[in-house]
Amino acid sequence: MTGRSFLMPNYAPPPVTCVRGEGSRLWDVDGKEYLDFLGGLAVTSLGHSHPAVAAAVAEQARTLLHVCNLFGTTVGPEVAETLDRLIGGPAGQIFFCNSGAEANECAIKLARKWGGGAGRGPKGHTRHGVVSTYGSFHGRTLAALAATGQPTKHEPFQPLPEGFRHVALGDVEAMDAAVDPSVVGAVLLEPIQGEGGVNVPPKGWFAEVRRICDERDVLLVLDEVQTGLGRTGRVLACDHEGIRPDGLTLGKALGGGLLPVSAFLAREDVMAQFTPGDHGSTFGGNPLSAAVGEAALKLLEREQLARRAHDQGEYLMAQLGKLNHPAITDIRGKGLLVGVEIDPKFASARLVCEGLMAEGILSKDTHGTVVRFAPPLVIEREQIDFAVAAVQRVLKSLESKAKVRETETV
Ligand code: PLP
Repeated sequence: MTGRSFLMPNYAPPPVTCVRGEGSRLWDVDGKEYLDFLGGLAVTSLGHSHPAVAAAVAEQARTLLHVCNLFGTTVGPEVAETLDRLIGGPAGQIFFCNSGAEANECAIKLARKWGGGAGRGPKGHTRHGVVSTYGSFHGRTLAALAATGQPTKHEPFQPLPEGFRHVALGDVEAMDAAVDPSVVGAVLLEPIQGEGGVNVPPKGWFAEVRRICDERDVLLVLDEVQTGLGRTGRVLACDHEGIRPDGLTLGKALGGGLLPVSAFLAREDVMAQFTPGDHGSTFGGNPLSAAVGEAALKLLEREQLARRAHDQGEYLMAQLGKLNHPAITDIRGKGLLVGVEIDPKFASARLVCEGLMAEGILSKDTHGTVVRFAPPLVIEREQIDFAVAAVQRVLKSLESKAKVRETETV
């Protein structure tokens, strides 16, 4: 290799170059072993290179790899049925695509068409508005970015598509005021803000949002790209709140950690707004993705990974809590989506993550003060113990540095 980078510099230079993964473990080019406490950003729920998913890839690759969407396959309808059953159907109808952003784009397009449908808005208006929350993350494509409630991410890419408004997470009154039924067609929400710092809205907020949407004939679309498929201890994170959305996006874990697979699901009468030619995707739902999705969903069910995420997540949060370290100001999340808030006076979350990396634990700092953990759902108790002990050592070593800083400023 020349040493020159041929990759677009959209990510910071990687501190670790991985060559192999197995279960919850990763190895770098020098053979150093890491415990993956980020799970590929909540993708690798089944662990790295799960043999059953790898076998499904090989089998399907030998059988049928790609057919354009003008023709059908048997695997596509099969995975749609499995997904419908797993999420406690009826899901209505499903559109398969390739990334979380693409699933959200589809949801937003459908919401616009639905909102603009005959008789839905006052004369001359379409209800094309979408309400989401500050701090949310819905993807990098233009409409998904406009829905993302982080103005700093918008700035360089103005003008963005119009019609997006944002409210504070958990604020019923703000939602009530923003959902103006003459211009708003949909509310798009993450059940727990993942990228935004593992922010969990107060219990009961979703029920209020559901009520507001129902009263005004506005669609409630949930972005469960990160929280879905067992991650938070239930198959869908909205199951914790006992509500059902009109539309739902899934991604990340749907590809079994092996392939990019995502989906948009909606009530049948809502999906009916799309007519042939309105939307599509060359690779969406191709036989290979469908076979991998099917294998991933079957494993999720057979190995009761949602239950496991619940148990291991409770354990992880309890063990972190027992550290009782003053630098940890909050531990939050559900299942195996966990955020640890670090007092910025003590250290940045980035420093903690760097320390953890040196200890062989991969994690991610978010918004300066939060360390995000999203390990594979197959993580073992001993591995959690190992990681928590590493957190303790890292905080201890940072204590002395914090003391030095304190004396320097006195
Ligand atoms: N929605 C949520 C909640 C996400 O967390 C992400 C990615 O982190 C996305 C959408 C975008 O997914 P992708 O990067 O696959 O486009």
